[in-house]
Amino acid sequence: MKNPDTPLQQVRERIGRACKVARRDPADVTLVAVSKTHPAEAIEPLLREGQRVFGENRVQEAQTKWPALREAWPDAEVHLIGQLQSNKAEDAVALFDCIHSLDRPSLLKALVKAMDRAGKRVPCFIQVNVGEEDQKGGCAPGDLAGFIARARDAEIPLAGLMCIPPLDIEPAPFFAFLDKLARDNGLTGRSMGMSGDYETAVMLGATHVRVGTALFGARG
Ligand SMILES: *Cc1c(COP(=O)(O)O)cnc(C)c1O
Repeated sequence: MKNPDTPLQQVRERIGRACKVARRDPADVTLVAVSKTHPAEAIEPLLREGQRVFGENRVQEAQTKWPALREAWPDAEVHLIGQLQSNKAEDAVALFDCIHSLDRPSLLKALVKAMDRAGKRVPCFIQVNVGEEDQKGGCAPGDLAGFIARARDAEIPLAGLMCIPPLDIEPAPFFAFLDKLARDNGLTGRSMGMSGDYETAVMLGATHVRVGTALFGARG
């Protein structure tokens, strides 16, 4: 009997199937393995299987886990997917290869300053509050065009747009909305879709899916 697929193989297979349905090239979809809360010992098997892009939601946690892992796997990439406080901008610029949560002018300012100091530019996704939820981070859709213009003026490399749709309702309309906002603003990247809905996101244009539970199991 054939060995059962690993979770990573299963997720990749499902991304491949969604791409086929949508007539998309799987090479245009980056799987971001969300390793937040999981220790290095849980991350290493995925690295050995060839996974290279990971997502963390806290600066401090990433600082404790990733320097050693990067030494062993120098081509691994770590993306920040969680909210970022302006006072952590410098640490974030030093540590991450990409930031998915640029969502407000004060953070833009802090990131520009940190990038200028570090002499490097870290690509950023602008997070959009697609459900216009009070408690959620993200730029309001109505403020997006102005915010993108400010980021472009500041020479922040924009990777695209990111969203976390409201919980417990069908996410497809929100993914389609983010896709349209990206298109209207001339941006290629769409960071959308998590364990429960990444295939839907791929069919609606996701270029980056952020998958944790389906790869690592439930978080403690
Ligand atoms: C935790 C998290 C994910 C991954 O969620 P899963 O449901 O475990 O796949 C994706 N995006 C963000 C912003 C997260 O915080």
